[in-house]
Amino acid sequence: MSEFTNESVSAIETTLNDVDRALERLRAGTYRTCQVCSNPIAEADLVANPLLANCPAHPELA
Ligand SMILES: [Zn+2]
Repeated sequence: MSEFTNESVSAIETTLNDVDRALERLRAGTYRTCQVCSNPIAEADLVANPLLANCPAHPELA
């Protein structure tokens, strides 16, 4: 990965970790559950951003 800067590698790793966590939530059946308030996340929001872990009420955590 020497052609990437450290910043790029770290951004890529962050996104891939988010994908891992999203897949774990999908398998565990908690994919649509907001990680903050436990309300269901809107289907359209998840289609727009499949890595979403909480509802749009907590944008500071997204
Ligand atoms: Zn929420």
